[in-house]
Amino acid sequence: MSETHPVIAIDGPAASGKSSVARKIAARLGWTYVNTGNMYRAMTHCVLSRGLSLSDSPAIGILAAEVPLSLEVQDGNKVVTVIDHDCPSDEVLNSEEVNRSVSYVAQVPEVRERLVAEQRALAKRGPVVMEGRDIGSVVFPATPLKLYIDASEEVRARRRAVQGHADSVGLRDKIDSTRKTAPLVIPDGAVVIDSSEIGLNEVVDAACEALTQRGVSFT
Ligand code: C5P
Repeated sequence: MSETHPVIAIDGPAASGKSSVARKIAARLGWTYVNTGNMYRAMTHCVLSRGLSLSDSPAIGILAAEVPLSLEVQDGNKVVTVIDHDCPSDEVLNSEEVNRSVSYVAQVPEVRERLVAEQRALAKRGPVVMEGRDIGSVVFPATPLKLYIDASEEVRARRRAVQGHADSVGLRDKIDSTRKTAPLVIPDGAVVIDSSEIGLNEVVDAACEALTQRGVSFT
């Protein structure tokens, strides 16, 4: 069966607020929420656990192609990655070591190939709100429901600091936007919402309005 359910694709740079927006929209619609950043983080944790060097792309590529990996839906609508028979906690996924390393692992083509295949398979199970860096551009380019949530680098750096993280969003964005495979871009046809000057509720309202205009019904 190749049927694909509706997909809301939400992209944007680090700490733009896209996770909060995606979670809220998924909850309102009762659709599954998929944080693809956590999939890249889980793969990064696996790479670090195996002691691979971040500069050894061939070894990371082989691991990504072969490691046992599955996605499980928890609490009805949250997707978690089980990798190498391990389901890393949110604390591990958001550790400073993973923050510093994830963009290097995410640029390896085999890593992307493996995770994109899993992301596409998810949309065959039911409707999803999926957030990441390449969802509207590469994973589901045909969906008409694309949002790009942006914010100034200064605002995003402040948000990360408030969350207690010391990583550089600027460096991560630079690697994510300049990599050869699936760089962060504003996808064709995406509605851009700048969250620098407005609160979460206003961003969600703007997102829901844009989606309503494209035929999504919020009851
Ligand atoms: O969304 P989050 O900031 O947790 O993503 C962590 C990292 O995972 C990003 O900085 C990026 O390197 C990678 N990523 C990606 N493609 C996605 C989602 C995340 O390359 N679709």
